[in-house]
Amino acid sequence: MQSIVTRFPPSPSGYLHLGGARTALFNWLYARHTKGRFVLRFEDTDVARSTQASIDAIYEALEWLGIDWDEGPYFQSQRADLHNEHIDRLIAGDQAYHCTCSPEQIDAMRTKAMAAGDKPRYDGTCRAKGLGPQPGAVVRFKAPATGITILDDTIKGRIVFQNAELDDFIIRRSDGTPTYNLAVVVDDITMGINTVIRGDDHVNNTPKQILLFQALDAPLPTFGHVPMVLGADRSRLSKRHGATSVTAYRDMGYLPDAMINFLVRLGWSHGDQEFFTREELIEKFSLENIGRSAGIFNPEKLQAINADHIKATPPAHLISHLQPFLKTQGVETHDETLLCKIIPTLNTRSKTLADMAEGAHFYFRETIEFDEKAAKKFLRPVSLEPMRLLTEKLTQLKEFTEAGLEDVFKQVMDQTEIKLGKIAQPVRVALTGGTVSPGIFEIIAVLGRETTLRRLQKAVAYIQKRADAG
Ligand code: GLU
Repeated sequence: MQSIVTRFPPSPSGYLHLGGARTALFNWLYARHTKGRFVLRFEDTDVARSTQASIDAIYEALEWLGIDWDEGPYFQSQRADLHNEHIDRLIAGDQAYHCTCSPEQIDAMRTKAMAAGDKPRYDGTCRAKGLGPQPGAVVRFKAPATGITILDDTIKGRIVFQNAELDDFIIRRSDGTPTYNLAVVVDDITMGINTVIRGDDHVNNTPKQILLFQALDAPLPTFGHVPMVLGADRSRLSKRHGATSVTAYRDMGYLPDAMINFLVRLGWSHGDQEFFTREELIEKFSLENIGRSAGIFNPEKLQAINADHIKATPPAHLISHLQPFLKTQGVETHDETLLCKIIPTLNTRSKTLADMAEGAHFYFRETIEFDEKAAKKFLRPVSLEPMRLLTEKLTQLKEFTEAGLEDVFKQVMDQTEIKLGKIAQPVRVALTGGTVSPGIFEIIAVLGRETTLRRLQKAVAYIQKRADAG
């Protein structure tokens, strides 16, 4: 069997948005699943809108998502000669012709067609004139006036277009530049693309492209048009629905594997499975299971998937993702052993890496500042005795093992006749400054003897001062 060649051809006129990333992902996954090839091509012929900043932003997003390409990047703007050669071939084969109709003439044709209740279209005035190239002339494709063009879409099924609906569309502008549909088809042919998966906003271009493939004697690729991604209100995804740029999610603390898991589920399914690793997606991805209905963007679902991926990722693999967020918190550490101890205390309670970094902050503080409300509520004189006793016993405890710690807490509870709940919160405030944190035994195990004792002593002193003040 011929090996699969897919492509991602973004127009670099902005950042990579979620819909574009999903298209890239589907093409990449299909190429990886079939052990085929994935081609990157920038469709940058719109000089006014294409920018280097967008190209860089697209690279950055693809790199973050872990979407790599086997060929390219190609730049459509650098391929005009190739496009023009193909246009010349069409002219030589009498499948295209020069047209010198003026904008006024075209307007008049349109008005006339509309007055007759038809679609505005070019009426073929120059079709049979056999004009040669000349300044100001465009080149038009000789589209069949009758019959049908069939799109056998792997996702949407068969779509039949009436050729009478099409007119002799322009393939070379009067300034000599090739038009979009022509460039796409020539690129797809010359790059050996045999599978096109793209947004269904391109369905209307497809009959024109099919006709061009046929006129150029090239085999048709398999087309699959993916329904758009919509917001919860079923309108086209926009900023109103949340951030739409892929890298904005990186900056909010999402994992790339969570993002691709989420994106793939905006249109593809495998039974009721929701959680997929990257390897599983490559193994299971298929075109047959891309759905026909629009993908609905649900930020809560993305967050839940992210939390699941944070939980499932080995701590050592999370470190490099977490570090930039720790840095934002003012924590710069390369102590991987320590981070590997901290991460398991937080990975079941963090929805994002930003959450995790925030939750990890207290481990690194030189001194703990107590949250005012927490201190008021939990560092009260009634806790002085138990806290003091605990500190004393912990000072004497030789090794901070879990069993040893538990035993000390038990002794304190027995001697002061209080329950764990009553001592746990003051200890938590002492060690973290606040009331929400991982379990206190876990924290103590990470902080170690010296830091734990220092923090407890500070809390005892604070309570003492409060008691003295009456
Ligand atoms: N450049 C087009 C876009 O960004 C993609 C065209 C295609 O996939 O054929 O929407």
